[in-house]
Amino acid sequence: IDKTVSARDARPTAQLDDYADLLGRRHIDRIYRKAADLSHLHVAHVSSTFYGGGVAELLDGLSLLMNHVGITTGWRVIQGAPDFFSITKKMHNALQGGSINLTDLKKQHYEDIVYKNALRNHLDHHNMVVVHDPQPLPLVQHYHRKGPWIWQCHVDLTAPNVELWAYLRSFIEQYDGVVVSLDEYQQPLETPQRTIPPAIDPFSIKNKELSTQEVNERLAHYDIPTDLPLVVQVSRFDRWKDPEGVIEAFKLATKEIDATLVLLGNVATDDPEGKEVYESLLDEQGERIYILSVEDTALVNALQRRAAVVLQKSLREGFGLTVTEAMWKGSAVIGGNVGGIRRQIEDGKTGFLVDSVEEAAERIVQLVRDPDLRERLGQAARTTVRDRFLLPHMLERYLDLFAGFET
Ligand code: UDP
Repeated sequence: IDKTVSARDARPTAQLDDYADLLGRRHIDRIYRKAADLSHLHVAHVSSTFYGGGVAELLDGLSLLMNHVGITTGWRVIQGAPDFFSITKKMHNALQGGSINLTDLKKQHYEDIVYKNALRNHLDHHNMVVVHDPQPLPLVQHYHRKGPWIWQCHVDLTAPNVELWAYLRSFIEQYDGVVVSLDEYQQPLETPQRTIPPAIDPFSIKNKELSTQEVNERLAHYDIPTDLPLVVQVSRFDRWKDPEGVIEAFKLATKEIDATLVLLGNVATDDPEGKEVYESLLDEQGERIYILSVEDTALVNALQRRAAVVLQKSLREGFGLTVTEAMWKGSAVIGGNVGGIRRQIEDGKTGFLVDSVEEAAERIVQLVRDPDLRERLGQAARTTVRDRFLLPHMLERYLDLFAGFET
């Protein structure tokens, strides 16, 4: 099979040319030129899940787009039993500011599992390797490198746990480059750092245009009522996403307005806490509160489109692709005033930022009552995403990063 041809002809994966109407021909041609200079690269992305969560979401689109522009790019996923992912989830939580009991046993287990993955993943012939997040981080020490190794961290590094950071740093500094999602996440490190904000694929099932009928059909399929305005949060079931705060804010708001809340979540394979968080919320199910744990990308799309208000009330958020997705759909978004959400939403112009349950409730009331305001914020939000957070923007920054290692 001629992979180049089959990849180019394949649908529904978007190609760079599909973005010409959105970004302009010159922009697209500039990216093609940069990619042509790097066609000798053989890139491998390594992450810890093919599915669930923002990293899988963006690698899905990004790795295909890299192939479309002529850079041979693969995506490997490390394997581990639940106890491995339990340790790495604790690390994730501690990187976002939580505490951790970092025993020698945990470190040993973490490093052993990564070592096993190194034995069965042959990355010695790739001349560009990008390792995502802490789960596969120690891989770097097990290879004869043919080119640069980059560690990309997607978590909110506003205040990483000091003890954990000191431990991880011994691996991080073996890399040739570090990528974070926002400038303020850069850390004091020997290794050179870059900021590359994530991005979305507007042509994917999650983000493409849907007709009113398609939206109705998806919502009806799950018996989600549309008689009242929908307030929606789509998120992994994770405490950092503050699902309890969302429910509380909704209850406060519905003292003044009538609405239906939908909390849609999924559980990533590398997140063992998800099931517990989901189950802890079920008591809150009610006539106007729907808590759904289903895997349905088109439902995510439909909800983000139909919602009168999309919430992302996170307490920490590396970037927050759900915010980008909803903004792209022209929805009015209320986001927690943290991490990547703060860098996407301009308060009062492209959505609202909130610091408390009470503020979230006030904004829900305001938006439900004011369709013109929703329309205004949503249109401005869509423009922000078009100008900054579509996949070609991210691709170009990657190409610039790769090119920087060439000289
Ligand atoms: N997501 C989904 N179904 C769900 C919940 C989340 O497809 O039920 C997707 C969501 O649309 C987004 C990603 O998972 O693309 C979450 O990325 P984000 O950056 O918001 O958060 P993370 O999970 O990486 O912390």
